[in-house]
Order: sequence, then C-alpha cells, then structure tokens
Amino acid sequence: MFVVVIQYTHMNPEVKLEDIVSLAKRRGFIWQGSEVYGGLRGTWDYGPLGVALKRNIMNLWWQMFVDERDDMYPVDAAILMNQKVWQASGHVDTFTDPLVECSNCRGRFRADKLDDPNKCPTCGKEGTFGEAKQFNMMFKTFVGPSGQNELTIGEPMEGAEDAAKLEGMHAMTYDPNAISYLRPETAQGIFTNYKNVVDSFYPNLPFGIAQQGKAFRNEISPRDFVFRSREFEQMEIEYFVHPDAWQESFEHWVDQCKAFFDKLGLPADSVHELEVPEDDRAHYSKRTIDFEFDYPIGREELMGLAYRTDFDLKNIHENSGKNMEYTVKGTNERFIPHVIEPSFGVERALMAVLVSAYREDEQNGEKRTYLALPEHLAPVRYAVSPLLKNKPELVEKAREVYRELSKKHPGRVMWDDNGNIGKRYRRQDEIGTPECVVIDFDTLEDDTVTIRDRDTTEQRRISIEEVI
Ligand code: ATP
Repeated sequence: MFVVVIQYTHMNPEVKLEDIVSLAKRRGFIWQGSEVYGGLRGTWDYGPLGVALKRNIMNLWWQMFVDERDDMYPVDAAILMNQKVWQASGHVDTFTDPLVECSNCRGRFRADKLDDPNKCPTCGKEGTFGEAKQFNMMFKTFVGPSGQNELTIGEPMEGAEDAAKLEGMHAMTYDPNAISYLRPETAQGIFTNYKNVVDSFYPNLPFGIAQQGKAFRNEISPRDFVFRSREFEQMEIEYFVHPDAWQESFEHWVDQCKAFFDKLGLPADSVHELEVPEDDRAHYSKRTIDFEFDYPIGREELMGLAYRTDFDLKNIHENSGKNMEYTVKGTNERFIPHVIEPSFGVERALMAVLVSAYREDEQNGEKRTYLALPEHLAPVRYAVSPLLKNKPELVEKAREVYRELSKKHPGRVMWDDNGNIGKRYRRQDEIGTPECVVIDFDTLEDDTVTIRDRDTTEQRRISIEEVI
C-alpha cells in the first residue's frame, strides 16, 4: 500500500487559461503542433520540460497502479487494430458527435456544445443551421496498398486507370477489408488481450490490465489548449471482477482515483464527483462517476470511472467465436467477468496540475510567477549554478556538485549559469524547480552551498555532503 500525503495549499482562483498557455509556450513545456507551418488544429508538441512533466505524471500512475500492486498486468497493444474490434465495440456505429453546418459560412460545429444553438459563432448569422448529422470521430485509414478513395468502391479511382496504364500498372482499388482506425481509446487493446493474460498468467479475480498510450479522436471543435485535442494520451485500467462483487471494486477505485489526485497536488476542493445519471451514461455502463476539475474554462471532466458490466468481453465472445469465460479455480463456476474502468487522460491531468501549481506573488516589489509543483512531478528537481560564471574556480566546483547531484537524480538536475542570479531564480521558479543550489566563494572555503527554496524564496547554507 502507498501512503497518501495530503498537503493542500490554496491555489490561485484567478488563474486564467492564457497564463498557463503562455507560460507553457515561453518556458518550453508545450507548443502548438506543426507551428512552423501554421499549426495543425488539435495537436500539441511537448518540449523538454513538458515531456518531463508528462512522464512524471505517467510514471506516478504506473508506480501507483502497476508497480505497487500485485493484481495488475500491463500491456502495450498496437494502435492499429482489426476493424472488427471497432465494429463489435460499437464505435463504428455510435462513436459520434452531433454536427451542424452553417448554410451561410459553411462553418461546422458540435451541436451540443454551442452557446446559442440558433446563431453561428463564426459569421453571427441566425437560423442557418440545418438538422444535426452524426459525425464519427474515429480517424479512418487503410492498412496496406489499397486505394484510399471511398467513392471508387470496387473500382479504380477517377483517371487512375489511364494513368496506371501509362505506367504499365494496375489501378489501385478500394478494399473495404483494408480499413482500420487510429484507436479512439486504449481500452479495446486491453479487452482483446484479456484472454492472452488469463492463459499466460492464470490470475485470480479481481485483477486488472493496465495500458498507457496514444488515442485519437477527430473532435469537431478541438479547444481549450490540450483539454480537447485530436491526439492525446490515455492511462486506462480494466479491472475484472466477479459479477456479484462489482460494487466493492467500484468503491475501491473511487478511493484510488482520489489518492492519485492527491499525489498530483490537486486541491481536494477543486475536484468534484459527478454521479452520471442513467440517461447520460454510455449505453454499456450501469454506473459512471465523472471526476470533474475546476479548470479556468469551468468545471469539466478530468477522468471517468465506469462500471462497464460484461459488455466488451461478451461482444468479443460473441463476435470472435473465442471463449471469454473465466473459470474460478478449483470450481466449475464459469462466467464472463464484469469490468470496472478508471480512465485517465494525461493531458487533462497535466492541465489540472499546471492550474493547481500556478501562483503569482510579489518579491521585493516585483511580480513573480511560479509553479508550486509537487517535488516528485517537477521537471527539474535541482538547478545548480556558480554565483559568477566568469570565475573558473566557482564553475569547476559547481560542475562537481552538478555531476554528483545528477548521479542521484538522473535527468532531473539542470545546469543554469545564464544571466544574473536573480534572473536564474525567476526562471527556475517559473518552471517549478523546488530548489536552486548556488556555489559561491564561501563554498571554496568551507564546502557549504546556498540552497534557495522556490515557494518561500528563503535561502539556507548547508554542506555539500548534505545536499548530495
Ligand atoms: P468528453 O465528454 O469531455 O469528450 P469523454 O467522456 O468522451 O470526454 P472518455 O471517452 O470517457 O471521455 O475518455 C476518457 C478520458 O480520456 C477523459 O476523461 C479525458 O481525460 C480523456 N479524453 C477524452 N477525450 C479527450 C480529448 N479530446 N482530449 C484530451 N483528453 C481526452
């Protein structure tokens, strides 16, 4: 079991999305995807500090839910899967959002997210929307050398035949069997490996299969920074239980989700449990709790916890012809296990972490911005600096301290000798570095250094030995 340390400081209720976006860009956390070519909507690139923060969040999840448990089996399934997976799961038919088009400007919008359903948000004209159409959010692709133009089903693409003849080749045709999708969730890669895990490891119920990885959704209106992206990352668990024991496991996972939020440093009063009413639940779910967070854009879904019954395994059982039943060891009791699914989105967790950590205060009459990130999430644990970078004896000593600290905290120590010491502190505060270590002339005499605390800005003198 892990110990939960709850340490709430009050976050800044005034934090705005622009503040987070601008800090993330300025300091090398997150940039717009394909920015040099004008960007690609709904995609984001992570810079060095963003990668580190994202990894720390994902590693924390892995540590809590995989490494520290003996009932969890991790998998890493392929992103491209047989199209039958998405037919059986219902995604091909029902993974849709309602889409409306403005007859004036041709702008397309998600019907259920419009502030005013009668007025086009782009051109401002009223009454220009027709009936909503269901838009499937999966990215479709073709596996192998098949033609890619659906309008030519079974036939060559227009003009392709003549062009192909000139080349002495056959025109490519569209092969519906070649269709695949970029996975819209990691969960199906878990269900399709359920039998493999059972056959190789003989786990007792309840047990879980965990996966982290990319998911893709062709969102009609990607928005709010990384909150609604077209390419994002999920951390999902399918926890297989006896059908009579689902409630107990559901409660267990409610507690586990909260323990994870604590470790992310989210203030408890910013996280809310929404018991999703039956009408709003996915068709397969008998109970769902959405954990919502007070983002600067409002209270929105951070992650979901769903009781998916035996919906997915039963579908596989019926559609694949393979037996998905579980036999309780030493008995004849057989059944298709039921499932509790805690589904976390990395980007929404990361955004909640940044919002919770964002602070502004005043130091010596100057405005200061800093990220009060929990130590275990901060991309940089220590910054090491020589007080003056043009004094070789200070630089040499500082390099020594840097090397030793790096051995202890690989990849989490930054060398920083840019600008004066005040500027370095400001920069490190902004990226959430808990402590800066400064080597000065006294260090050369008595082997002590100055350690400066990010949150209090207090400085202490301690021996190098103690730091390392
Ligand atoms: P929403 O209603 O906000 O679209 P959802 O209910 O469709 O979300 P789920 O299908 O339950 O989301 O996906 C599980 C988790 O994956 C979400 O709680 C969220 O953290 C994350 N997620 C889903 N869609 C996106 C997205 N477009 N961008 C970033 N994260 C996402």
